[in-house]
Amino acid sequence: MLRLVAGHLFGGVLLFVSLSLGEAASPRDSAVPEKIEATSPSPSPTPQLYSAQTLAELKQLQQAALASDYAYRQVAHLSNNIGARLSGSAQAQKAVDYVAGELKALGLAVQLEKVMVPHWVRGEETAALVQFPGQAPGTSQKIVLTALGGSVATPREGLTAEVVVVRDFDELQSLGKEKVQGRIVFFNYPYDRRMAAEGRGGEAYGEAVVYRSDGPSAAARLGAVAALIRSVGGAACRLPHTGATDYAQNAAKIPAAAVTDEDAELIAALAPQGPVKMHLLLTPQELPDAVSYNVIGDLKGSEHPEQVVIVSGHLDSWDLGTGAIDDGAGVAVAMQAANLVRQLGLHPRRTIRVIAWMNEENGLRGGKTYASEHAKQVADHFAAIETDGGAGHPLGIYIAGKRELKARLGPVAKVLQASGAGLLEFRDEVGADINPLAKLGVPNFSLIQDSRFYFDYHHTAADTLDKIDPKELAENGVINAVLAYALANLEQPLPR
Ligand SMILES: [Zn+2]
Repeated sequence: MLRLVAGHLFGGVLLFVSLSLGEAASPRDSAVPEKIEATSPSPSPTPQLYSAQTLAELKQLQQAALASDYAYRQVAHLSNNIGARLSGSAQAQKAVDYVAGELKALGLAVQLEKVMVPHWVRGEETAALVQFPGQAPGTSQKIVLTALGGSVATPREGLTAEVVVVRDFDELQSLGKEKVQGRIVFFNYPYDRRMAAEGRGGEAYGEAVVYRSDGPSAAARLGAVAALIRSVGGAACRLPHTGATDYAQNAAKIPAAAVTDEDAELIAALAPQGPVKMHLLLTPQELPDAVSYNVIGDLKGSEHPEQVVIVSGHLDSWDLGTGAIDDGAGVAVAMQAANLVRQLGLHPRRTIRVIAWMNEENGLRGGKTYASEHAKQVADHFAAIETDGGAGHPLGIYIAGKRELKARLGPVAKVLQASGAGLLEFRDEVGADINPLAKLGVPNFSLIQDSRFYFDYHHTAADTLDKIDPKELAENGVINAVLAYALANLEQPLPR
């Protein structure tokens, strides 16, 4: 982690040096502009990016954000007073009304944009090993698991079948239909805790989450009657992680659940000793799609009100916890950007648009609907920011878009460096709800957040307010406020 940060900081310093040279360079100095072109191929060697006034205001926003508990109060209300906010639930609707009211109270022009969302409801979820080597007569071993979002139900009385353990898709294929048919396939692919400990939690998650999304259909194609995965995340204390599965069109839908790490170890230890049979009961229901909303609040720009900078998080959450880190925190720090601009009496040149997205977790309907309904105004979407990586200490900004975007953010990174968040890094995709806009050419940004512990709680019953450190949340608010306001006042277009 330390080594990684040191490398990033070094990169940040280099960037800053080259920009400083760029600002100071005279046109006759041929050596320096060449260097600048390597990192910043903008048409003018000395474009002004931010006015002196804007730069001073960014520092004011930074200080105000560090001193503010507004974001913490917002995420506390969303998680404690409203609670879990799965799409289609009464709590999700309450959260829509609440955020709309809070944005109105800030003086924003608020609209609810309708989105039809899936309405999946978790039911009972129990499992036990009913046959296994060494079993005392008449006993069973309880297995702790949770249904994957979107899972179909087992028969009403549950199902009982032998468990076949595979590590990955290749091992499943090598077994073939004969050894899978009629059985429960268990994908025992571990979340890489060491990778997470190095600060690469997102990568560890990405490697394992394919079994959650694609595992059930892969098992169904070989005739499995149910699919289990090892929970995708680092939780100990026998906590299962939910998350959406993605049934393929060309496969039967079979019940799907995630077992805890501890139960994964248990099954994996017993299976090589002899046949292991499980009784599994899942009773989720898929109700008709429900009406819900993206909550949109505009702080109108003074010069280019039609041009918008989106700052956002997603309002829906999984149902097991109270959706504090995923993603009440992201919504709260998006609201914070508008709150601080209002509090300091600043006037952004472009519109700052706060969006609380609906249905990121099990359908992405909010982000997709917005991009399709606003496709005609895509040229006026100057940039989009989304925070959806928890509330850990931020290190800087992820960028998805043209390489030239990095130079545009150089002076912003210099300001953010003072609160420990001066990194600028590229990723192909930085926010699930804003990615449909990225595909239409809108530059996308998100926060680089400490990911070491995020996946210990994410999508579990332990995603609760106590996991948020108010100081670290405030640091995330700094980036949203500074970045949104900087983009709203940028003197140059963003390359796209
Ligand atoms: Zn999320």
